[in-house]
Amino acid sequence: MKWRRTHYSAEIKPEMDGQEVVIMGWVHSIRALGKIIFVILRDREGTVQIVAPKQKVGEELFKQIKKLGAEDVVAIKGKVIANEKAPNGFEILPLELEVLNTAQRPLPLDPAEKVPAELDTRLENRFLDLRRPKVQAVFKIRSEMLKSVRNTLYNEGFIEVNTPKLVASCTEGGTELFPISYFEKEAFLGQSPQLYKQMLMASGLDRVFEIAPIFRAEEHNTRRHLNEATSIDIEMAFADDKDAMDILEKVVYNAFLDVYENRKREIDVLGIEFELPSKKFDRITYDEAIDIANAKGVEISWGEDLSREAEKAIGEEMGGLYFITDWPSEIRPFYTMPREDNPNICKAFDLMYKDLEISSGAQRIHLYDLLVENIKKKGLNPDGFTYYLEAFKYGMPPHAGWGLGADRFTMILTQQENIRECVLFPRDRQRLTP
Ligand code: ATP
Ligand code: MG
Repeated sequence: MKWRRTHYSAEIKPEMDGQEVVIMGWVHSIRALGKIIFVILRDREGTVQIVAPKQKVGEELFKQIKKLGAEDVVAIKGKVIANEKAPNGFEILPLELEVLNTAQRPLPLDPAEKVPAELDTRLENRFLDLRRPKVQAVFKIRSEMLKSVRNTLYNEGFIEVNTPKLVASCTEGGTELFPISYFEKEAFLGQSPQLYKQMLMASGLDRVFEIAPIFRAEEHNTRRHLNEATSIDIEMAFADDKDAMDILEKVVYNAFLDVYENRKREIDVLGIEFELPSKKFDRITYDEAIDIANAKGVEISWGEDLSREAEKAIGEEMGGLYFITDWPSEIRPFYTMPREDNPNICKAFDLMYKDLEISSGAQRIHLYDLLVENIKKKGLNPDGFTYYLEAFKYGMPPHAGWGLGADRFTMILTQQENIRECVLFPRDRQRLTP
């Protein structure tokens, strides 16, 4: 490599007329019209037009440029020429070219998007698919969201932790786990950091968060489930469900705001209408939610988990972001704190976006006896929770927390219909490669 990049395409402006720049990227398209060649070069931040008239660039360079093909990797030293008719008001007159690598052709997938491709073909050739500006935009927004979430949580006094993903037993029951062989023992891939982040509350870390993979051996094949997902998890001590909801509101609102303010170009590339939510989200109870579903003709009785049809009916009525609170204890995990005034209802909540659940959380049980009783009530064996239960014996503070699916959150921020669009290399029932 003879030079280093001086500018990304998006950093060059018509006012730089006459300035020499070095740009690097891929040949997006090339068009030779007799004595003039037009090359569109693509880099991470956009595209730039290079115009090479034979009589200006000379015989030698003209020949070199003419030999270029789609997706070759090049470095071009050139001069910025302001030109109102060119895209973005300027073009580049090449002075020198270095071909850094060539691309085999035909390409299995066209990054210039002249030929549309099915999702399956795209995922099969994901690294090439990712060269497409629309696909890159999704991951830049995802990155912005993760950065924003970290900022908000650090500002709120959380510390970032990492808990094990190789685990000896389950979180909430025997199902939905991937077994693996661990030397002479059987182990599993962690389905949630739930038990570990709770144990850290007994350690006095007060406010922790983790952004890490969760593994779920669910057989279903939907547009919102993956077998490996990324979960943003928090747990906070000396706090209840309302405190956890307030933090979730801040985290989600700030991520919308940061994407809106810092990723305008990506929003534009995606061609979506991006609306900021209000700072406070609506809150409805489970009872109100089933009333809405029933009123819309979806039959659901008290105590049942919300069916897909019920979620759709409620989502239609509620629109954007809203919480569902006060769930029946029966359908929430054993560690959920029941309400003091009515133990049939618990201090759990879900955050929904239309018909999509993006987060689940609750105040947790911090009382040893109640916890053991609840484990038994769910038909689980307390012996399977020995290490976890120890943490509740020697001074566990009241605490609450939630898990927010990073992939589903990205779906919402980028308005994608399929969760696979929001994950670099998705893992689902059919797909384990690339
Ligand atoms: P659902 O009912 O939609 O299957 P869940 O209630 O089983 O989700 P939780 O265990 O509450 O999910 O996990 C918390 C969050 O993690 C979910 O709200 C979701 O955003 C995300 N999540 C959970 N499972 C998956 C999955 N299989 N694929 C993608 N995201 C997931
Ligand atoms: Mg849930």
